[in-house]
Amino acid sequence: MQYLPIFTKLENKPVLIIGGGEVALRKCRAFLKANAAITLVAPEFCSELQSLAADSIVTLKNKRFDESDLENTMLVVAATDIEAVNAEVAQLAESRNLFVNVVDDQPKCNFIFPSIVDRNPITIAISSAGTAPVLARRLREKLETLIPQHIGPLAQLVGQFRHKVKARFKHFADRRQFWESVFDSNVVSEVQAGNKENARAQLETMLDNTATPEGEVYVVGAGPGDPELLTLKALQLMQQADVVVYDYLVSDEIMELVRRDADLICVGKKAGNHSVKQEHTNQILVELAKQGKKVCRIKGGDPFIYGRGGEEVQVLAEHNVKYQIVPGITAAAGCSAYAGIPLTHRDHAQAIQFVTGHCKQDGQELDWEGLAKANQTLAVYMGVIKSPHIQAQLLAHGRAPNTPVAIVENGTRPTQRVVRTQLDQLAEAIASHDIQSPALLIIGEVAALHEQLAWFNKNNQISSFAQPITQVA
Ligand code: SAH
Repeated sequence: MQYLPIFTKLENKPVLIIGGGEVALRKCRAFLKANAAITLVAPEFCSELQSLAADSIVTLKNKRFDESDLENTMLVVAATDIEAVNAEVAQLAESRNLFVNVVDDQPKCNFIFPSIVDRNPITIAISSAGTAPVLARRLREKLETLIPQHIGPLAQLVGQFRHKVKARFKHFADRRQFWESVFDSNVVSEVQAGNKENARAQLETMLDNTATPEGEVYVVGAGPGDPELLTLKALQLMQQADVVVYDYLVSDEIMELVRRDADLICVGKKAGNHSVKQEHTNQILVELAKQGKKVCRIKGGDPFIYGRGGEEVQVLAEHNVKYQIVPGITAAAGCSAYAGIPLTHRDHAQAIQFVTGHCKQDGQELDWEGLAKANQTLAVYMGVIKSPHIQAQLLAHGRAPNTPVAIVENGTRPTQRVVRTQLDQLAEAIASHDIQSPALLIIGEVAALHEQLAWFNKNNQISSFAQPITQVA
C-alpha cells in the first residue's frame, strides 16, 4: 500500500496553503470542514479568501513564499500555478519531514486528498493512489447512491449513548451484541424518518430492557466460490456473526468478507476425510448458540443440497436454538452457468437430477435405471472418486457410450477448468487430467453445448476424446 489512509484530527492545528486563487480556496474549504487553523501565503488573494480573512476564519500572509513560512506548521499544500514555486515548497517541506501535497502533481506529494463520501461522522475515503482518479470518482458516486443519508445522524445519536452502554455492559461482546440489536431495530427507521426523539426514547428503552442476549445460528449457503454469487442476506449475516463455522468448500475470497473480529472455526470436510465429525459440528453450533452467540454456519453451495444442512438444522430444532436458513447457489447451478451448459434445454433435456457419488452407507445403490434414461441431465456431486463405477453403471443400464459429459473443476473460480468428454471415457478423462476436488460431473446431451456457449475462463477448456466427437443418436 503506497498511501496508508489515516483520519487526522486537525482542529486548531496549523495548516499552510501556498497560493491565493481558486485551487487554494478549494483546499482551504476542505480544511475548514475539519476546523484547522489555516494560513495562506501568496502575493495576492481572491475575494472569497479575503472575506474569509475579514471574518477571522483564515490568516492571510500577503507575500512571496520563503522557507520561514514552514515554521510551526503540520502540513503544507502547494496550490500556486507556478511549477517552480510548487517544486520549491515540496522540496523544502520534504526536507523538514512535513506532510506536503502539491496540487495535480502526485509524484511530489507525500500525502494526497482522497475522494470523500461524507455522512458526518461517518466518512469514507477513496483513493487510487493517483493511478486512476476517474475510477475512484466513479466508485465514490456509486457509494454516494448506496449509503443512505440517515447513516450520519444515526451515528451521531448512537455516539451519544456510547458511555451509557459501556457502563451497562462490562464485556465487549455484550456491547457489540447490544449495538447489533440496535441497528436491527426501529431506532434506524425512526432516524430515517427524521424522528430523532422517538429514536432516542427507543434506545433508552432497549438499554433498560436488555436481558442476556439470545443466541442464533445462521445456516448460510455461500455458493460455489465466486464471492459475487453470494446473496445480500448471506453477506449481511456473515458480517453480523460473532463466530463463523466454515468448511473447506468455502472459498478464501468469501472468507475475506466475514466480519474481521469474528472468531473462525474450521470444521473442514472432504469426501472420505472428515476432519471434524458431523456430531461434533452439531454440538459446536448448539453450544455457541446457548452461550448467546450469533453463529454463522457457512457452507459451500446451498446448505440443503448435499451440505448436511438438514441434519444440522434438525439438531438445532431439537435443542430449541433459533436459526435462519439462507439458500446459496448450488454447484450444479454455478458450474453449469459458468461452463455455458444449460441444465435443461427444450431440444436436449427435459429433466435434471442431482446425484451424489458418495452415499452415506457404502453399498447403498442409486436408481441406475432411472438415471440412465436419455434426454435428461445428471449433475453428479462428489463423483470424482466413484467415476469408474458411475460410468460402468450408466452404460450397463443403457445410457449411450457417446453421451456428452463435462467435468467442471473449481467451478466459478478463477481456476475453473472444464474437461469435455463422453460417458465411456469419463473415468479415463478424470485420471488423465488429474481432476481435483471440488469438481462436478454434468452428464447428458446438454454438456455438448459447452463448445458453443462457454464464456468464462475459456483458456481452461479441455477436450478429452479418444476419437473425434460422434453425434448422439
Ligand atoms: N452444498 C454444496 C455441495 C456440497 S457436496 C452445493 O450445494 O454445491 C461437495 C461437492 O459439490 C463437491 O464434491 C463437488 O462435486 C461439488 N462442488 C461444490 N463446489 C464446487 C465448485 N466450485 N466446482 C465444482 N464442483 C463443486
